[in-house]
Amino acid sequence: MNTDVVRLTEVRKTYGGRRNSVIALDGVTIGFPRATFTAVMGPSGSGKSTFLHCAAGLDRPSSGSVLLAEQELSTLSEVDLTKLRRERVGFVFQAFNLMPAFSVQDNVTLPLRLAGKRADRDAVERVLTQVGLSDRRRHLPGELSGGQQQRVAIARALITRPAVLFADEPTGALDTRTAREVLNLLRASVDQAGQTIVMVTHDPVAASYADRVVFLADGRLVGELRNPTAEAVAERMTHLGAWADEQAGVR
Ligand code: ADP
Repeated sequence: MNTDVVRLTEVRKTYGGRRNSVIALDGVTIGFPRATFTAVMGPSGSGKSTFLHCAAGLDRPSSGSVLLAEQELSTLSEVDLTKLRRERVGFVFQAFNLMPAFSVQDNVTLPLRLAGKRADRDAVERVLTQVGLSDRRRHLPGELSGGQQQRVAIARALITRPAVLFADEPTGALDTRTAREVLNLLRASVDQAGQTIVMVTHDPVAASYADRVVFLADGRLVGELRNPTAEAVAERMTHLGAWADEQAGVR
């Protein structure tokens, strides 16, 4: 059976006070089954970042529930939430956020050391091979290309064998060819290692590597595409943009 690794139920998030409150998420319900790759898209301001932060336990919803790796996040203390994030969640961002003075290998094993665990040599070898960088383990990030640096960041995110990997515009800083390499790597981690991935992107080509694209507008889920092509995603985004403009009274 395909169980959800992450499940949001009626999640709402408002910012600001009573007078100037902004509804960033407005009753979002969605599940992310194990070993699936989902892209989250929507116009600027539609709630993508807020969604990612709430789903990953980086921020707490105003109401509703988030279940991650069988834990209800609202019941966890800050300490337990931090522990859950560190041990069960992987993050990849647009900026690679590597430690410049650390070697590739030391960057990759950092999450284990922060958790007070020993870096198992086989596990490090496996993850470095997975991202195609086992011959660069002693290099510093500054000696690598952008795509290679992002692959180090992915290896660092995978070393803890997270239940879910959240990616926020992971190819935003890369050229087309390098972006494709990184997306193929993410895709392979789903197909070959059963990784679960949730990726926020504004790029229809990046989204086409996912099994499913879900669309946000005004803090609500307004549709999804399964087995998406870049063309179908771009087409849907054009309509969403027009729809969002209408809601905002732009036209
Ligand atoms: P996206 O990532 O799709 O651009 P966000 O999640 O960043 O959307 O924002 C959704 C809405 O919430 C926007 O109207 C934004 O202005 C508002 N918002 C986001 N973060 C904050 C914050 N810290 N304080 C106030 N409003 C916020």
